[in-house]
Amino acid sequence: MLNMFRKAAQTRLVTIGYPQTPARVPENFRGAPYFDFSAWRDARPAVEACPTGAIAIRESEGRRWVTVDYGLCIYCGQCAEADGSGAVQITQNFELAVRERGDLIVTAEYPLETDGSQGELAGLHNGSPSGGDPLEPLERKIQQRIHKVLGRSLSIREVDAGSCNGCEIEIGALNNPVYDLERLGIHFVASPRHADMLLVTGPVTRNMELALLKTYRATPDPKIVVAVGACGISGGIFGRNYATVGGVDSVIPVDVFIPGCPPRPHALLHGILLALGRMEQRILTARPASADPA
Ligand code: SF4
Repeated sequence: MLNMFRKAAQTRLVTIGYPQTPARVPENFRGAPYFDFSAWRDARPAVEACPTGAIAIRESEGRRWVTVDYGLCIYCGQCAEADGSGAVQITQNFELAVRERGDLIVTAEYPLETDGSQGELAGLHNGSPSGGDPLEPLERKIQQRIHKVLGRSLSIREVDAGSCNGCEIEIGALNNPVYDLERLGIHFVASPRHADMLLVTGPVTRNMELALLKTYRATPDPKIVVAVGACGISGGIFGRNYATVGGVDSVIPVDVFIPGCPPRPHALLHGILLALGRMEQRILTARPASADPA
């Protein structure tokens, strides 16, 4: 017993200060890939290597459009390895949560060279193919106000809609002394009837589709839905098939999307606080510091 007290007295504060202080991640942590679209000359090897179809090419009349969907990306690093030119790099960037699904999609346009490579970057588009915010300005304002009011103290109900449990391990870490979610006035509850936010993981298996819908209906208004991980956003590596519906927003409306496979606890914190208007959305195409040469 005495030893326990001695050890407790010797252990210094382990709780992180994020988001007040910058996040410190392990040296070997692998975050999102960064694409230097203006230096990228041939996207074909990366497209070939990508196991989830997160990078896609479309060609027409001497032009090539290269689309990167961060909502499908599992941070495997195959694209950077296959590309080898330095235009694609794996970074330690994890602050990728967004409010609109389309914000995770970037399309670069190039003229096509005769050897099949890309010429100078002709345009960079961020957003869904349809573009635009599906919410009217007034609706958006009301939604942000609701989120800010909820943000003072928040109860979360976690819903596993068929995940591999990778996301659950990271979500569980939010309750440990290192990440300590309760210091931000946020805690998990057992019933959706007591929740303000649903944190949903998994590609939504067909067996969980009705359960997710019922959980959503049981959560009192106003409520926030956060889709966690590549599976929660797009179905991830499973996509849409006989067993999965391919993402949370196929079943219920989603307010924030947190990419990753799985997203680390810092990324979850960023997404939850973004939903509450307590953190800002980052620009996906901006070069993160971890992509700079050492
Ligand atoms: S890191 Fe993402 S974009 Fe690159 S190959 Fe893996 S899944 Fe595809």
